[in-house]
Amino acid sequence: MTYDVFVVGGGPSGATAAEDLARAGKHVALLDKAGRIKPCGGAIPPRAVADFAIPDSLIVARIQTARMVSPSGRHVDIPIENGYVGMVEREHFDEFLRVRAAEAGAERLTGTFLRIERDRDGTHVVWRDKASGEERRSATRLIIGADGARSNVARAEVPGGDTIPYVIAYHEIIKAPAANTDYDPTRCDVIYDGKISPDFYGWVFPHGAQASVGMGTGIDGVDLKEATAALRASAGLADCETIRREGAPIPLKPLDRWDNGRDVVLSGDAAGVVAPSSGEGIYYAMVGGRVAGIAALASLESGWASDLKLARKLFMKEHKTVFNVLRSMQDAYYRSDERRERFVSLCHDIDVQRLTFEAYMNKKLVAARPLAHLRIGVKNMAHLLRLVSPRWT
Ligand SMILES: Cc1cc2nc3c(=O)[nH]c(=O)nc-3n(C[C@H](O)[C@H](O)[C@H](O)COP(=O)(O)OP(=O)(O)OC[C@H]3O[C@@H](n4cnc5c(N)ncnc54)[C@H](O)[C@@H]3O)c2cc1C
Repeated sequence: MTYDVFVVGGGPSGATAAEDLARAGKHVALLDKAGRIKPCGGAIPPRAVADFAIPDSLIVARIQTARMVSPSGRHVDIPIENGYVGMVEREHFDEFLRVRAAEAGAERLTGTFLRIERDRDGTHVVWRDKASGEERRSATRLIIGADGARSNVARAEVPGGDTIPYVIAYHEIIKAPAANTDYDPTRCDVIYDGKISPDFYGWVFPHGAQASVGMGTGIDGVDLKEATAALRASAGLADCETIRREGAPIPLKPLDRWDNGRDVVLSGDAAGVVAPSSGEGIYYAMVGGRVAGIAALASLESGWASDLKLARKLFMKEHKTVFNVLRSMQDAYYRSDERRERFVSLCHDIDVQRLTFEAYMNKKLVAARPLAHLRIGVKNMAHLLRLVSPRWT
């Protein structure tokens, strides 16, 4: 029997697409390799919890404060107003989403995607079944490529899919210490320091009994383990038991095209969709899965391959401006310690805090207090033109 949609990859993006399509009455397959926990800090905004009905039981920590740390060790604590940043364990979060998709009617398959074949009988996904080790060939009308960063589907099917730029993010899952003067289980620390990351940032994200401590960089030759050891030492976490060490790429730029003009559409990391500056990808992967599902439904209905373009169009309509602002911020401030010092100085401004956190928490750019935008713009220019000291707030 031919599937309407074959979803490759059962992370947040693929599981969301599969669930939505199954709920819409489509015959859907959800293929995942299984067996590996996705390396991830696990931070999600309230908008993700609300839009995708994430149950409370999956939130292992509720973060109330974000601490921004500068290269010289100054810090600013930003209170998270009207909500919290939720922390999830990907091992349980991803499985919950896959189970929910299956309960909605998607057929779960466990194995590895190998290739796509087309012949007179149509399009087929060839994959290796994990239990038997045998190759299977599944007929389908459409394919959603949600197989994460360095996606094989993107590489094979979509122009530019093999050239997405990445940072490599590495983290260590540690046993969390009891709360102390350095460690607060309700605070996430974001460290802007060239010694930890010359082009991105380091983090300490509490996860209840555990914590994720890590950093990212796109620069070859940076020793990720050494940088993380330095971060653990400076955060007072050097002696905590290490549970796992792992790393993975984070894509830096959404592809210009997410479909192949025929029968494949990409979503999530496979389409290069992670927010610049923050590296936030879970929420955007889920939105990507949702819009890929909408595009697939439209294409199945109309028979037009061009409807697959809807996925990117819908996503960009909603998120392009925030992505552009975050991209400019990363380009301007993540390039030297002097700029990072200035960035943390800007974070002292209450209106900068409100604007950035509203954009993170609710994915909206909101109007700040009267004249605040103007004042922030002037402060920004004063820092970028070096008219003021890096520590000027
Ligand atoms: C160290 C690190 C920390 C991060 N921290 C955060 C954070 O705190 N908050 C946040 O929002 N984002 C974070 N991100 C980014 C976030 O993890 C990703 O953007 C998000 O997981 C993307 O979801 P996805 O479903 O597109 O891809 P993935 O989560 O990568 O899922 C892809 C799925 O495809 C499957 N797959 C891959 N290849 C095949 C194949 N050949 N056959 C079958 N199945 C296959 C995999 O098993 C996997 O389940 C972090 C990333 C890293 C690397």
